[in-house]
Amino acid sequence: MADSHDFKVVLLGKGCVGKTSIVLRYTEDKFNNEHLTTIQASFLKKKLNIDGKRINLAIWDTAGQEKFHALGPLYYRSSNGAVIVYDITDQDSLQKVKSWVKELRKMLGTDISLAIVGNKTDLEHERQVDLNEADAYAQKVNALHWHTSAKANEGIEELFLALIEKMLERRAEQEAQSSTLSRQGSQRKNVLVVDDEQLEPTPRSCCSSQ
Ligand code: GDP
Ligand code: MG
Repeated sequence: MADSHDFKVVLLGKGCVGKTSIVLRYTEDKFNNEHLTTIQASFLKKKLNIDGKRINLAIWDTAGQEKFHALGPLYYRSSNGAVIVYDITDQDSLQKVKSWVKELRKMLGTDISLAIVGNKTDLEHERQVDLNEADAYAQKVNALHWHTSAKANEGIEELFLALIEKMLERRAEQEAQSSTLSRQGSQRKNVLVVDDEQLEPTPRSCCSSQ
């Protein structure tokens, strides 16, 4: 298809913040009160149509390795986007977000689009994380800041839409950069060709005149 985009998105964050619940809500519109233990990293697919663009998302969910910090760069390498989740009732989970952001920016720079997500907004009365602090932090690291409740099904569609927009913008920038580079490359080649032609006729004309 002409305007089709494949994106890989990884879910990151402390255990029990609701990563699996967000993915399940988004891809299957299901919610479970139990903590679902995934045995290995798994991915779910989601296809969307946005303004005539076909979007294929591969969403990678972690499998509890977050507890052991066993997730290596292999897991998030070649990701276009990351959804880094904290639980608004757990201050420590925001700290974990910060260490993930640091690692991703170090390894992937600005190639990856980030969305920081405060989940469990249905538990607003138990909030521990300071909203302004989280907002300011997200802005500082050029990440989206979104709020969701997988349980109440709030904000999840909107979160992924916003991230897709950001990934599309990033891809358009990358394509514009690479076409500028290749234009410059062919201009350089033209200059060389012209030089060759100027050099070449001289001996031949000498020969033919003799
Ligand atoms: P993960 O370890 O980050 O994948 O977290 P899970 O998706 O397994 O969720 C951990 C626990 O939090 C489970 O008991 C979920 O039912 C619960 N949970 C997830 N999302 C929400 C939410 O939005 N609101 C509430 N109240 N609980 C949630
Ligand atoms: Mg999980």
